[in-house]
Amino acid sequence: MDFGWSKDEGSFRQRVRDFLDEHWTNADDTSTEGQQRGRNFEKVLADNGWLTMAWPEQYGGQGASHVEQMIYKEEAALHAAPTGGGGVSLVGPTLQIHGTEEQKKEHLPKIANAEVLWCQGYSEPGSGSDLASLQIRAVRDGDDFIINGQKIWTSGAQRADWIHVLKRTEPDAPKHRGISYFMVRMDTPGITVQPIEQMHGARGFNETFFEDARVPARNIIGEENRGWYVATTTLDFERSGVQRAAGVQRSFARLLGFANEPDSAGRGQRVADGALNRHTLSETAIEIEVGRYLGYRVAWMQSRGLVPNYESSMSKAYNSELSQRNARRGISLLGLHGTLRPQSDHSVMDGQYCQLYMSTVSATIAAGTSEIQRNVIATRGLGLPRG
Ligand SMILES: Cc1cc2nc3c(=O)[nH]c(=O)nc-3n(C[C@H](O)[C@H](O)[C@H](O)COP(=O)(O)OP(=O)(O)OC[C@H]3O[C@@H](n4cnc5c(N)ncnc54)[C@H](O)[C@@H]3O)c2cc1C
Repeated sequence: MDFGWSKDEGSFRQRVRDFLDEHWTNADDTSTEGQQRGRNFEKVLADNGWLTMAWPEQYGGQGASHVEQMIYKEEAALHAAPTGGGGVSLVGPTLQIHGTEEQKKEHLPKIANAEVLWCQGYSEPGSGSDLASLQIRAVRDGDDFIINGQKIWTSGAQRADWIHVLKRTEPDAPKHRGISYFMVRMDTPGITVQPIEQMHGARGFNETFFEDARVPARNIIGEENRGWYVATTTLDFERSGVQRAAGVQRSFARLLGFANEPDSAGRGQRVADGALNRHTLSETAIEIEVGRYLGYRVAWMQSRGLVPNYESSMSKAYNSELSQRNARRGISLLGLHGTLRPQSDHSVMDGQYCQLYMSTVSATIAAGTSEIQRNVIATRGLGLPRG
């Protein structure tokens, strides 16, 4: 079996690679200014039609194949370039399946043009893995709903223009059947955002509070009280994608570069020395290949109009755990210097593996924990009864 790319796909990949090599110079800058430069570059990518190339043309896409879109996303992740965030990867695809024509016309072109930023309001302080137990209320008032309650871990809420958010609209129904899926403007009066600081210094996510926030009923995606079934579509999109494996590939390539490049203190050479170290590096190389193919499978299914489900969970569980193994192995190969932060004069590889070690802790929690992914694989993939 040949897993290679067609000639056209190969030359498309080269075109994306050349473009990013030439124009994207801001990788790994997580400062506020760096994030703004990433936003500006998204506009450049949108102008080139790459952010949403597999979307239909009438909604701002190019009608390209899912495989081309995947190649673009993989290259973007290999370059640590922006990919358009939750609008491109979550809300847009969900609207294409469950949205009304009016909603698609209103939102999809703005996402495709990188005009708006979206965040995701699912988790609550008491509802994470058991998401359907969520408590935040939306109560009908004429043509609107009035929202009261709290969300947590809302990534990027401090910069977002819109939030896609699950609310309880029928408290007396069984928990999965009383939820509706809303799109809400973040500048709606009554919404406030409180950033949460992470252990590696970033302020990636937030608490989001709603106090008598008013949202029009026409902003519900899908049917009222049937939002749970729309949300599972979004979750499948969130768990799919080759970016996770490509992210590991990127940091691993740097570690290899360091091992192959003798520095005056001989630290790189020590990484490459000894059978055990070489086997550890080889193990990661094998696992990256496995992770990539799990991601490719999801894109291949999408390109054939199939809806990946447990396949997305396999890719997500494997690649998020791989990101942690790679970080652990890297830091152990680099020795004590590898545990130092970028600011230290004695850090190796600018402290990248120290940062990676801390930032990947969350990889097996975000977008559903590894246990939840395995529950999905067990029930929907293997057909086992619910535990
Ligand atoms: C970096 C990051 C970004 C995030 N961004 C967002 C965001 O933008 N929007 C948003 O809404 N949420 C976001 N989240 C929240 C994320 O979705 C939740 O943290 C996640 O779903 C787990 O929920 P929890 O933290 O409440 O843990 P809990 O659900 O309390 O789980 C605690 C532990 O119990 C285990 N567990 C729970 N239930 C089961 C079960 N049935 N079987 C086996 N084990 C189980 C879990 O695996 C976990 O180990 C983000 C999280 C992270 C880390």
